[in-house]
Amino acid sequence: MVNILSGKDVSRKVYTDLTPRINSLKEKGITPCLAVILVGEDSASKIYVNSKTKKFKSLGLHSKTFHFKNSIDETILIRKIQALNNANNIHGILLQLPLPKHINDLKILQLVSPNKDVDGFHPENVGLLSIGHPRFISCTPKGIMRIFEHYNINLNGKHVVILGRSNIVGRPMSLLTGLKKIGANATTTVCHSGTINIQDYTSSADIVISAMGIPEFLKGKMLKKGAVVIDVGINRVKVDNERGYVLVGDADWHSIQENISAATPVPGGVGPMTIAMLAENTVEAAERIINVP
Ligand code: NAD
Repeated sequence: MVNILSGKDVSRKVYTDLTPRINSLKEKGITPCLAVILVGEDSASKIYVNSKTKKFKSLGLHSKTFHFKNSIDETILIRKIQALNNANNIHGILLQLPLPKHINDLKILQLVSPNKDVDGFHPENVGLLSIGHPRFISCTPKGIMRIFEHYNINLNGKHVVILGRSNIVGRPMSLLTGLKKIGANATTTVCHSGTINIQDYTSSADIVISAMGIPEFLKGKMLKKGAVVIDVGINRVKVDNERGYVLVGDADWHSIQENISAATPVPGGVGPMTIAMLAENTVEAAERIINVP
């Protein structure tokens, strides 16, 4: 029997734990507020921003979306970020990626105040994480660590194999799992598009975290008996249904079931945790202003 690691359930607990913190801030006249910068018409980005907005509203948090045309001039974006950095009523700033090609995303990300960088993408925050003193941790990897904690999956001494090295998921995930800290302390291997014969690595992994964006890439025969699979991938596969597609992960659910002990489903696994961690980081950003420990 495969244990389902439900991010949906864990995220409910996160929201319950956040409620008294939000209420306490409100008693002090502070409502945590996230500013979201969205450029262009990417449909996946729009869906993601909408669900963040809905969730924030239901929690009693504020969120303001600034939606710009794809053709926006870089200087306008820069001025907007500077204004948001200086605005006292804005506690977190999220730059929805990807940005259009004519905009240098690293340059723009570096302009976001590190104290408002609730996505944890600013080089200063990535650097702090890499030396084991994190400030804001990017939401998807932080959410995955919370799933491990909730289901008592201790990484200490385990071999964790991460498929993907993006700055959003794979790279920060590798930093987190390898930290010398309770709940972490794993030996981490990062596989990527340059890795030859990925199965050589996955077959010795106690835990595989897949963030490649390749539908059903990970098969049962690539895994050790009893392994845990965290499936970050969200892939649209065309089918002949009403929507015209289904969402599938990076793991081939049918074939992995025989081998593994536990896995996150898609949907309902890692996805809900990403938004929950964004809400948590935004509340934390507001608390930092009034020095809540
Ligand atoms: P990305 O495209 O930036 O990175 C993909 C990574 O996979 C790269 O590092 C690349 O080296 C690696 N890769 C590609 N092909 C490979 C191959 N054949 N063998 C080995 N490695 C290979 O993607 P990303 O932003 O990290 O997202 C990855 C997936 O996770 C996507 O499906 C995305 O939609 C999903 N995602 C989900 C959440 C969530 O909340 N659940 C959050 C972020 C991303």
